Amino acid sequence: MKIFLFCLALLFCSFAKAQKINRIINAAEVERIERVLASDSLRGRKVFTPDIEKAADFISAEFKKARLKPLSGLKDYRQSFGMIRPKLISIEASIDGKKLTKDDIVIVCTAEGLNITEQSGFEVKTIGAKDNFTASILQVRQSGKNMVVFLDTSFRKNFARLSFLTRQMLYDAPTAIYILTSDVPKQFSVSLKQSLEKLPLTNIVGVLPGKTKPNEYVIFSGHYDHLGIGKPVNGDSIYNGANDDAAGTTAVILLAKYFKKMHNNARTLVFVAFTAEEIGEYGSQYFSKQLNPPDVKAMFNIEMIGTESKWGKNSAYITGFDKTDMGKILQDNLKGSVFSFYPDPYTTENLFLRSDNASLARVGVPAHTISTSKMDNEPNYHKPSDEISTLDMANMAEIIKSIAISSGSIVSGKDTPTRVQQ
Ligand SMILES: [Zn+2]
Repeated sequence: MKIFLFCLALLFCSFAKAQKINRIINAAEVERIERVLASDSLRGRKVFTPDIEKAADFISAEFKKARLKPLSGLKDYRQSFGMIRPKLISIEASIDGKKLTKDDIVIVCTAEGLNITEQSGFEVKTIGAKDNFTASILQVRQSGKNMVVFLDTSFRKNFARLSFLTRQMLYDAPTAIYILTSDVPKQFSVSLKQSLEKLPLTNIVGVLPGKTKPNEYVIFSGHYDHLGIGKPVNGDSIYNGANDDAAGTTAVILLAKYFKKMHNNARTLVFVAFTAEEIGEYGSQYFSKQLNPPDVKAMFNIEMIGTESKWGKNSAYITGFDKTDMGKILQDNLKGSVFSFYPDPYTTENLFLRSDNASLARVGVPAHTISTSKMDNEPNYHKPSDEISTLDMANMAEIIKSIAISSGSIVSGKDTPTRVQQ
């Protein structure tokens, strides 16, 4: 009798739990949020336009309804930062007394003026003919240091492409001076004048403090920017981004509401809608520098979950599956449920490095993207036809639930995924 009652209670509990999750995460709620974010009136949520501000206001209001706290140090949910768009006035430069032409120098700098010589203390790096150009440039960009970089003249063709780095940069980007030369010089002098346009950006961040492990963080994120107004296709010029990534943003909002209601997260949960993903993941790059990476135990980045995956309903994939054991933990937590998570099947697409999870993975955080997007055959990807009418709201609600369930043992502090090796 006791056992029977116990079973009944258990059954009732899991029934009540299912009811609870369905009340918060359901197709109607998904549709309500999507109808705002992907509407034509938000004109594709492009960075540096008033349209994305409307999306920022809406997400903030949803975070407020979920009674999230601001990130420590911020007065509200807006994490404001920005980029600099410089306009060149003049460059004068010489190496070993020989004047450089403008084709032989590229300067990435966020100040109006710059005057340096070999005595200014900038680190010097040489990229020789045998080095890998792309990898070497990436190293410079990720070093976070002010640098002078001498590149062998055999890179002349690639060198011309570097000017794209000067188009726009984060406010606090370090200075990098790239010089094309056949010999590494002993002396150099560089002076630059430019005017600056400041371009504000905003991530939306809300927090649920952890009950027993408040100094350990788990991040749930998606990006709320998209491509805006662009080249018309079949008379439609609004790139709505209903799937990319209003879908991920919708998931973040509903997961925040769900975990608030559950009221039992041991670790601190951070919900983020990133900006500027589409122009180079600048929102997550900035965000990653505001946290101490070892404190962040996991990141669930959510991208394009509005269409059925290649395996059909109730299934999704995890990018960079082998980089940590987080994917296995999620799979274990889904055992016995109707949901399945698979390793990313589109490995040649390098999806692990192509979304906001990469900014956190670079500093060691087990940070993966969960998606259902068929990257070999997603007909509306980056097109004006990425509209709300192409989404499967019911399946999307299920995928959001699967993320909630799969994250359970990480949220509760029971499991801690391995780190990404640097
Ligand atoms: Zn995206």
